[in-house]
Amino acid sequence: MAPERGHAELLARHRAVLPEWLALYYEQPIELASAAGRRVTDREGRTYLDFFAGILTNAIGYDVAEISDAVRAQVDTGVLHSSTLYLIRSQVELAERIAELSGIPDAKVFFTNSGTEANETALVLATRFRRSDQVLALRNSYHGRSFASMAVTGNRGWSASSLSPLKVGWVHGGYRYRSPFRDLSDADYVKACVADLREVIETTTAGDVACMLAEPIQGVGGFATPPDGLFRAFKEVLDEYGILFVSDEVQTGWGRTGGHFWGIQAHGVTPDAMTFAKGLGNGLAIGGVVARAELMDCLTANSISTFGGNPVSTAGALATLDYLLDNDLQANAAKMGERLLDGLRALARDRPAVGDVRGKGLMVGVELVGPGGEPDPAAAVAALEGARERGLLVGKGGLYGNVIRLAPPMTVTEDEVAEALGILGAVL
Ligand code: PMP
Repeated sequence: MAPERGHAELLARHRAVLPEWLALYYEQPIELASAAGRRVTDREGRTYLDFFAGILTNAIGYDVAEISDAVRAQVDTGVLHSSTLYLIRSQVELAERIAELSGIPDAKVFFTNSGTEANETALVLATRFRRSDQVLALRNSYHGRSFASMAVTGNRGWSASSLSPLKVGWVHGGYRYRSPFRDLSDADYVKACVADLREVIETTTAGDVACMLAEPIQGVGGFATPPDGLFRAFKEVLDEYGILFVSDEVQTGWGRTGGHFWGIQAHGVTPDAMTFAKGLGNGLAIGGVVARAELMDCLTANSISTFGGNPVSTAGALATLDYLLDNDLQANAAKMGERLLDGLRALARDRPAVGDVRGKGLMVGVELVGPGGEPDPAAAVAALEGARERGLLVGKGGLYGNVIRLAPPMTVTEDEVAEALGILGAVL
């Protein structure tokens, strides 16, 4: 291994050997050296308050003793990883817990390593179950980077391949702010989207559609938040056609949205399946699908995920789940999320560059616009750099790259929310 010789040199080596399309944040990307709570420290010794970690991986935060101890205990057994061909106690226990928490009757769980694989699996199940290669997705969605999950990603910037193995019908509903239905009331917006859904089914599919896959709040799409009830209205139409509904909870799961444990519950809908990843591992690689048993068991061929559900990841995930529930982090997400939203709405009042503040719980998006209301991606880049200079890490997203995304770990405190708002006030 080549010796480490400074930040600039590492960056040059990264650029030389990793793909150009592997996105890095910041003009001078950060190399993390240590982390604790909601703060990370880089190799240069600068500490940042991390208001994006919650979505990326760390639902709870960094260096949580309970989780590290559970992982360490598993590592100490020497069974660092055994093939999932063998019985794994923590995997079974985690599946039981998630099946119960899902609210899906008679649920079964399959573990993967990532959200991409989870969505890939859900699409395999739905297309096989319904014997159809037609699916519905929302415009402005993000579901991953495999062949099938890119096929249902409605954002050209993240969907490198147009050679989709699926026939996809694109539906309105996610990104209201720049939709033709933006100025309608919530009820009329839902009606317009439902009419659009019917039209997409009738005009672009053969009717025998496998499933709709949708995020309750679009993550990469800039925390685009549809009105509650949209998916219940969609589900009524889907039920008429026998189309399955899969909720992508990769960003919205585990209580992050505050009001509910799963994002889709705000709509009063029980999906046929949900996909999850990211936060469950609090930094460990884990994802999965929870689905009705009939759907999960529709495959006749054998399948296995070599690492999906491995003992290290499932031990860590069980500890994460315990921590989330024992400390009622969903309630904290609701409370802190409200403060963050209120604070940003107050900031937005005398800042015309803030076009929209939206979200739920600890998923809060700030859409930056130019004088004519047009997307302003350069302002988002400047805000990210400015926040970093002042010691705050935030995310970016949206179809036009002009949305600041705030998603701190669910343990975030009042003081930290106030600190972040102070910095954002200075930057925006
Ligand atoms: N679904 C959603 C909603 C996501 O936000 C992401 C990741 N940004 C994925 C799926 C893919 O997950 P992963 O990166 O773990 O493959």
